[in-house]
Amino acid sequence: MDILIKNCNLIAMSESRELYEENIDILISNNKITKIDRNIETKVDKIIDASSKIVMPGLINTHAHIGMSIFRETIDGYKLKEWLEQKIWPMEDKLTEEDIYMATILSSIEMIKTGTTTINDMYFYPEKIIKAALEMGIRMQTTRTLMNIQKDGSARISELNRLIEEYKDKYNTIGFNVGIHGLYTTDAEYVKKCVDFAEQNNLVVHMHFCENTEEVLDIENKYNKKPIEVLKELILNTKTILAHSVVLNKEDIDELSDMNISISHCPISNLKLGCGIANINYMLEKGINISLGTDGQGSGSNLDMFEVMKFTALLQKGIEEKPEIIDAYEVLKMATINGAKALGLENTIGSIDVGKNADIIIIDLCAEVTQPINNVFASLVYNVKGTNVETSIIDGKIVMENRKLTALVDEKQIFNKAKEIIERIK
Ligand SMILES: [Zn+2]
Repeated sequence: MDILIKNCNLIAMSESRELYEENIDILISNNKITKIDRNIETKVDKIIDASSKIVMPGLINTHAHIGMSIFRETIDGYKLKEWLEQKIWPMEDKLTEEDIYMATILSSIEMIKTGTTTINDMYFYPEKIIKAALEMGIRMQTTRTLMNIQKDGSARISELNRLIEEYKDKYNTIGFNVGIHGLYTTDAEYVKKCVDFAEQNNLVVHMHFCENTEEVLDIENKYNKKPIEVLKELILNTKTILAHSVVLNKEDIDELSDMNISISHCPISNLKLGCGIANINYMLEKGINISLGTDGQGSGSNLDMFEVMKFTALLQKGIEEKPEIIDAYEVLKMATINGAKALGLENTIGSIDVGKNADIIIIDLCAEVTQPINNVFASLVYNVKGTNVETSIIDGKIVMENRKLTALVDEKQIFNKAKEIIERIK
């Protein structure tokens, strides 16, 4: 299908374009952006009038567990270890494949309706997660969570391998990462196996890292080394996304900056579990690629990346007592092109450029909380909510138009099913 977006205010997030341009038309042919210009006149299947609206790349969430939507606000007041071991894992043991499918449909609805077009996921029953993502049209990289505390580590790698074999190159929107749960739930030999597997399959490693002080102590006790030393020895130069990376001092960050890593900064989840906040200001100074994540709704509450952007900017300014740091445009980069770089998809998504896949959101800023717009980038970071996203296009397909999903899904029924699942396993 060919789509023409007319007269938009474009924030392309592209190094080859102006930061902000008015009255721009964008032509989409099949799944690609084929032309960006003023007054494009051509015959198309669909015209979207975007006059006075913002058009920008869809947001990229680089760390979540989208099968966890049912856990939203179930547990409050627990630290990471107790939260996982005493609360989340016992409930997860009762989840069926069908539950995960339903929970992922719910998360996909949430992502599309709040402007996220790509998700980097890590969970179990990944086949059901893929099924739901395909039905809803969301772009995803996923994995079987890899850990070996229950001695089924090799089986988990085989499961991921089988999945990759089955889905490799089958769908434009589905890819994989190698999701190592964390250094504290694996051992050195196993991490090495996973990293080798990532290298063989040309995939990105995706791992929780230094989320809170207890985790750091666990790693130190287990390996008799600092986490950063363990990481350097085991990951070497393999392309890796580290979720959280909260408990790191400046020397640790100096070490990280020599590695092939990106950070997935998840400030809301970190606040909720009382973990602390990563020093992303210093990471940026050291040239580390910072992307943003929500984490699962069990700790992150929701998948609204606009909330994450706002927290990201405000926390650093406040903690560092420096209002001049973390410019709004830099935060928009974290949620778009930096996310694409973290996933190794910077030639495909993350900006609006000719030749890239069409992952585009259209935002209406004509609302009481955004008017008047004196700085459009700051407006997007501080005053826009995910629900201001009006239309969303993923891989050239309209997945939401004027707030209405195009997938045939009964939202009320999904909400009820989610309620039933959590009532059963709680
Ligand atoms: Zn996580």
